Amino acid sequence: DKLLGALKTFKAPGAAPKRYDNSPPMTEQELTQALAAGEVIPYYQPKVDIRSGMLKGVEALARWMHPERGMIPPDRFIPMAEQTGLIHELTLVMMRQAMSQAATWHSRGLAIKVAINLSPLSLEVPGFVQKILTMIDEHEVDADQIVLEITESSVVANLGNALGTLARLRLKGFGLSIDDYGTGFSSMQQLARIPFTELKIDRSFVHGAHSRKNLRVILQSALDMASRLELVTVAEGIETIEDWRLLQDSGCAIGQGYLIAKPMPANELPTWLKGHHRRLPELRPLPPGDG
Ligand code: C2E
Ligand code: MG
Ligand code: MG
Ligand code: MG
Repeated sequence: DKLLGALKTFKAPGAAPKRYDNSPPMTEQELTQALAAGEVIPYYQPKVDIRSGMLKGVEALARWMHPERGMIPPDRFIPMAEQTGLIHELTLVMMRQAMSQAATWHSRGLAIKVAINLSPLSLEVPGFVQKILTMIDEHEVDADQIVLEITESSVVANLGNALGTLARLRLKGFGLSIDDYGTGFSSMQQLARIPFTELKIDRSFVHGAHSRKNLRVILQSALDMASRLELVTVAEGIETIEDWRLLQDSGCAIGQGYLIAKPMPANELPTWLKGHHRRLPELRPLPPGDG
């Protein structure tokens, strides 16, 4: 236990969060205003069937469109939002937009599921389940078209509080996804208590696994376990055609990554989809014996 604790708190020297510019950190006040001004919006990244290549869903990823600093990625403001409690407003802002977008797509015949990332802190907000239920009613979307992604490490750390909320959301029909699987320290016994519907393998076990045996073994065992638990299997971080082929051969159901598409604004999805359909032949599984 002591060793585990030490591992968890271990940080390599200089492993502070990566900064891509020299601008000062974002403040609580700036984010409060940005949320009110509608500057925080979802980009959407496709999730596709790994055998047919067909679009199955999208994941909403927060982007702060700052009028002076340009687009700010979530790593730069989600941790601060969690520390200050602004994460609750951010979650609602993201959910509202994602559900309204889901309703629009569905009304145009694009029957895709929309995934939303949840902070574990949201699961402890009194009335959270009721808020989401009201929201899906308002936007006339079905709960089974919405997937809630929760990071493995965060959910296990807060399991006691989160479990009841997650169970209620599942009963209402929402999909529940374990995000970044493989990066936490969760035991099967802990994970088995949560009624998850999907398991997303962290990209550190996906990209490059074709040339690294240890990664491949972990990847394959996670996929085998997930399919036996009847979870939808998703691989994130597919960047190359080699990654893609390996995941196809491993029996993974859904793929996501830069090879397929980067996160994009909602209005770019139709154009992407057209180009993607032209590309499908190169993504189809190779006939046996060819590789
Ligand atoms: P995540 O939920 O695991 O999302 C996947 C991240 O990997 C996204 O980064 C995505 O852009 C990136 N990604 C996708 N495909 C590839 C690939 O092929 N290669 C590489 N290297 N990266 C890829 P992003 O958008 O910067 O989001 C980072 C994290 O911030 C998310 O990780 C999620 O944990 C959190 N996040 C984003 N939006 C929200 C939100 O609305 N609410 C909450 N609570 N967290 C959010
Ligand atoms: Mg996610
Ligand atoms: Mg992830
Ligand atoms: Mg992640």
